[in-house]
Amino acid sequence: MTAIQVTGLSKTFGKRKALNDVSLQVGAGEMVALIGASGSGKSTLLRHLSGFVGSDPVAGATVHMNGKLVQKDGRVVRDIRRLRTDIGFVFQQFNLVGRLTLLTNVLTGQLHRVPLHRSLFKLFSREERAAGLKALAEVGLDDYAFQRASTLSGGQQQRAAIARALIQGAKVLLADEPIASLDPESSRKVMENLARVNRDHGCAVLVSLHQVDIAIKYCPRVVAMRDGRVVFDGPSAQLTPAFLRELYGSEAAEELMTPHAAPQGEPSIDPYPGTHAMPAAA
Ligand code: ADP
Ligand code: MG
Repeated sequence: MTAIQVTGLSKTFGKRKALNDVSLQVGAGEMVALIGASGSGKSTLLRHLSGFVGSDPVAGATVHMNGKLVQKDGRVVRDIRRLRTDIGFVFQQFNLVGRLTLLTNVLTGQLHRVPLHRSLFKLFSREERAAGLKALAEVGLDDYAFQRASTLSGGQQQRAAIARALIQGAKVLLADEPIASLDPESSRKVMENLARVNRDHGCAVLVSLHQVDIAIKYCPRVVAMRDGRVVFDGPSAQLTPAFLRELYGSEAAEELMTPHAAPQGEPSIDPYPGTHAMPAAA
């Protein structure tokens, strides 16, 4: 089954086309990197996949995730919340609730399956807790289960988001620059965990990345965007230095190839309004 299927998607903000007739297909179990300069449309595309945003109302514009319709002709389906059960998210900004324990944070990934009064009192069953601990162990965080999320490093919080997707039983994981504000060692751990979830759970992964070398290292396939269009879609081995120089224009090629703790550079608009339980904490 196709994990991600996008057809003829465009999105206009004012006069600017953030997405320009994007079509894309990602098979079940694939691991794909989404690259492109700042402002090329990566976050906008990811937000459309999860139904946080509707596209321009163009006939034939569709998004399917795991074979289920997410949006059509600019209209997001009504039961989108239920569809999101199959989709895991790792946002650029960490989105754990700082004052709650890591385990509770990870278990709230199951909120849609837990009756409201139970979620309010955080009364998870023994089985649910065991599943939570198992998922945390998978990402190497079982020792931190009962620590407040706010005491964890950025990289640990990103790995917790991956554990949450595991508990959810997500079939697709969307990650928007998950290592943008991490040091090289934390970045490596996050990427390795994404790769393991992909390999061991057959979970399709679409991850936007600023660093091309990391995209090539972890993802067999790369989709490159420029000005809202897909300008490359193929094996990462086929990316040439000349193409990458053109893709990133004035951005320094060396900078893109060197792991570094990337600072700002991103728009300050919150791309996922209402989904953050907590502001970013590095
Ligand atoms: P990327 O993630 O590749 O850096 P984005 O998807 O964030 O790119 O942005 C693509 C373009 O759309 C940019 O020009 C950006 O300024 C614009 N854009 C994104 N979101 C909005 C919004 N909510 N309102 C207006 N313009 C937006
Ligand atoms: Mg972005």
